[in-house]
Amino acid sequence: MPEKLPKSESSVPALIQGIIGLSSGLGLGYAFWHHIGHTPSLKNEATSNNEKDRLNKAFSALQKEIDALFSDKADQLPNESHQILEIYRHLAADKGWQRRLFMEIEKGILAEDAIQSILSQFKIIYESNAFWKTRFHDLEDLSTRLRKQLMQKNPKDIPLDVSQPLIVIAKSLGVADFLEYHNKALKGVVLTETNESSHMIILARSLGIPVVEGDENIIKKITHNHPLLVDGEKGQIDIGSFEDLVQIFNEKRNNRTLRSSFKSGEYKNLTTQDGVKIDLYINANLTEDLAELNQSIVKGVGLYRTEIAFIKRNNAPSVETQANLYKKILDAAGEKPVLFRTLDIGGDKIIPQFQSIHQPHKTKNIQNWRAIRLTLDRPMIMRQQLRALIKARTSSQFPEHPLYLMIPMLAEPSEFIATRQLIELELSREKRIGSPIPKEVKVGAMIEIPALVHQLGSLAPLVDFLAIGSNDLFQFFYAIDRDHLQTFHRYDVLSPAFLMFLKHIQEQAELYNIPLSLCGEMASEPLEAMALLGLGLRKLSVSPGSIEPIKKMVLSLNLKNFKPYLQAICQQMVTPTTLTEMRFGTSTSLRQKLKTYAIDHKVI
Ligand code: PEP
Ligand code: MG
Repeated sequence: MPEKLPKSESSVPALIQGIIGLSSGLGLGYAFWHHIGHTPSLKNEATSNNEKDRLNKAFSALQKEIDALFSDKADQLPNESHQILEIYRHLAADKGWQRRLFMEIEKGILAEDAIQSILSQFKIIYESNAFWKTRFHDLEDLSTRLRKQLMQKNPKDIPLDVSQPLIVIAKSLGVADFLEYHNKALKGVVLTETNESSHMIILARSLGIPVVEGDENIIKKITHNHPLLVDGEKGQIDIGSFEDLVQIFNEKRNNRTLRSSFKSGEYKNLTTQDGVKIDLYINANLTEDLAELNQSIVKGVGLYRTEIAFIKRNNAPSVETQANLYKKILDAAGEKPVLFRTLDIGGDKIIPQFQSIHQPHKTKNIQNWRAIRLTLDRPMIMRQQLRALIKARTSSQFPEHPLYLMIPMLAEPSEFIATRQLIELELSREKRIGSPIPKEVKVGAMIEIPALVHQLGSLAPLVDFLAIGSNDLFQFFYAIDRDHLQTFHRYDVLSPAFLMFLKHIQEQAELYNIPLSLCGEMASEPLEAMALLGLGLRKLSVSPGSIEPIKKMVLSLNLKNFKPYLQAICQQMVTPTTLTEMRFGTSTSLRQKLKTYAIDHKVI
């Protein structure tokens, strides 16, 4: 427990903000820098056979070590995490990796150097895309362990003081290193280079260890053994004397306990304090996410990311496999609608089987050849998915309910028309072969590219509904990269410019009488969601874990009072007189004003 921790010399408390929280929770401990050790190159005096022999022994020892480590952990982890350990175990025993190492040794180098050489070769290949980069971190971790086995050092001898709680700081951490630290006294992790989908992050979430990611230039200033408080929920690191941090830790923990003990209760419909009805949906990536649908307040699935199942399997499932999966989701949702987003692959969502599509010129991936652009250019991928979705709807428990399809990354109405044509082709095909078709197929457009916003007049007669994908819309609105810290935190979704843009979309949808929802991450954050309601949005699709906080915010909000306030601050901030008073580079975020409003008006 933090109260019992050893004292450290006092220093000025500091706060590192603007970092990304990857796994929530609070962790207090001492900074421990994780280094990937590398034995420097030595002149080869050993024969290749000797080296191969050493490597073989090291491989056997590595596998035993991994087996022992994972069997200790298996009981503590939920079922879905076991798969991650299995993938890791397979990687440790991968014959391709071993073969490459032997080939390197045959060039006349030491086994240690062969490991480094193969790692460097993989780095070049893997670094070209975010998905493979996460796998590279696992290989990096295994390489370090293999090297330690060769040096006959027990990798469990990480030189750390197990009597004190640890906040591990690393560029990235592999699964095995993470679990090894977890066996010690791990309280939190600070990374400078990782990705939300990394296996280690998934395990950290399962084990309740907070993880944050920050800019390397800032993080490297943290000295070894310094007391740190990691806040994965807020994306913050407090640095200071241990006594100060214990106090902050206790305050934060008490606030959070208080907040979570507020029971909002069960409601059939969700309304604001002044009686405005708000529809909440969930975003789902996996079947496990569907549990929240049992709550009567959740109206359905506002975004089902179909590509996740493809990415998880590393290949394209057959029509039959896809149909079974979609049917399972529809049956779990019962009478509630599920908006199936058609495949959004490409960019950093890579499926190895489609390598020739992702890299048509065998160079780097084409970042924005993704989603509907890619599937219209490769219509068979799209048609097979549509076939599976049609089958799933007609064989589900409620075959008479509509099939909802949502099209990502549209820039032009013509792309929507072409998609509709593919849907019609598939429906005619099913009819021709005597298979049933859904009574109704409702097709919606995702608004993720600003160009589409200026064509809503032409799009309106074609679509059944609209959904704002604010993650991509924000990215293309400000010309930033959503995966890169340097640009991601430069602008705020709560800037008047972006909020006014969203308001314009909402007004257009109202004008053309088209149902509109928002399913980006914005909707899952209470402050951002409050702003969206103030702009006039009434349907939000949020991550399952955000249902409760968003529900509490809605129940405590009076829209009649808030709407004119939001309108006023948006306009105030963009009038030329105010702008000229602002220094160049000053953020135009309304975040602080909105926070103050929420506190003053007791919005939770
Ligand atoms: C979005 O862009 O807001 C969205 C919901 O899609 P994704 O995050 O999957 O790109
Ligand atoms: Mg998107």
